[in-house]
Amino acid sequence: MGCCHYAAPAEGCDTAFSVDISAITYGPGALAEVGDHAQARGITRCALFTDKLIAGLEHLSIVRDSLIAAGVDVVVYDECRVEPTDESFLAASRFASQGGFDGYISVGGGSVIDTAKAANLYATHPAEFLTYVNAPIGGGVAVPGPLKPHIACPTTCGTGSECTGIAVFDLLAIKAKTGIVSRHMRPSQAVVDPTVTATLPATVVAASGFDVLSHALESYTARPDAARAAAARASLRPQSQGANPWSDIGCLESLRLIGDYLERAVADAGDDEARGHLMFAATLAGIAFGNAGCHLPHGMSYSVSGLVRDFQPEGYPDDKPIVPHGMSVIVNAPSVFRFTAQACPERHLRAAECLGGNTGGAGLDDAGEVVAARLIELMRATGIPNGVSGVGYGEADIPALTEGSFPQRRLLDNAPLDVSREALADLYKGALSYW
Ligand SMILES: [Zn+2]
Repeated sequence: MGCCHYAAPAEGCDTAFSVDISAITYGPGALAEVGDHAQARGITRCALFTDKLIAGLEHLSIVRDSLIAAGVDVVVYDECRVEPTDESFLAASRFASQGGFDGYISVGGGSVIDTAKAANLYATHPAEFLTYVNAPIGGGVAVPGPLKPHIACPTTCGTGSECTGIAVFDLLAIKAKTGIVSRHMRPSQAVVDPTVTATLPATVVAASGFDVLSHALESYTARPDAARAAAARASLRPQSQGANPWSDIGCLESLRLIGDYLERAVADAGDDEARGHLMFAATLAGIAFGNAGCHLPHGMSYSVSGLVRDFQPEGYPDDKPIVPHGMSVIVNAPSVFRFTAQACPERHLRAAECLGGNTGGAGLDDAGEVVAARLIELMRATGIPNGVSGVGYGEADIPALTEGSFPQRRLLDNAPLDVSREALADLYKGALSYW
């Protein structure tokens, strides 16, 4: 059976793909270079975004000192929220609008980087908040032009947000996650310093590592870009283009690194080699999903995290219940890949092989089971909860979980198969528990 990917584009489908990517600096000690990079980009007065936790860590002082040494005026904003909301985006945007900044620096996880993207957007192109938010929840209006320079410095090895033009938040009025997507929001530069991972608790590395894994696996198995209807104009081609030859390269290498190093990186905070490889895998996967797009595990995660009742994992702030992003994604993943394997079984087998799964003797009909088995093995080895029930949901919650995710069209439509409301409910049912 031939692979469905990269066939000649069907009538009306796109015949080209674009590669959008941040400039990237990677390596131990890179945080101390931020001041020089900022100066080279013409930044004279910057807003330095972070959160309360990171504000007390050495990473922030290294970046701030390097900016000051380069003659850049720095104003720190440490009010970024873990799991940002429209309110926290708006507060950050007000700060940005009033500060007279000509550039932005973010030091933190995806929440901090996404907050800086939103603040940069609304300070540069002011509008009513829902204007740029994804339709149908928001107006889905295209961002009118470039933003100010933004240098993003991730402090977790997961989100890949430093490489994408996506900012995700909880819209409080409807208790659901949604986002703003524009290639103009992609940070101008990512400065990725793997030494930041040495201070991360094991649960945080596990959750963010699985986020990386799912970015790569979803992008690799996304609907092929040649099967996506062409945009009216080239400049309107979506960032979620679907799987394409460029994104495949990053996905496969990222999966290989995760298969080799995830367990070691979680088990031992002092394992610089493993944590460094995981950080690089996150960057590769970020570039890949920024150009291909995720699909069902991410689409389903929005309601898993948004409807949280009382789940509180170790290693996270204990002031409110939270299902960390990577955890809310991966609990859906084995159920999803059992389902999507029928669309492109070769790709599922290849991904399982990269992850170190047992593909010996497996045929195309086994592809979903093989990839699910390897995911479950890695989840159990790293202390991830047992499916959606492991983070506090039961069968009675399936209708609410389904309703919360079904509007996530950007993600659901990027799956390699069409997903009805009933099929989505079945995927949650299959994700309740795995062992
Ligand atoms: Zn993610």
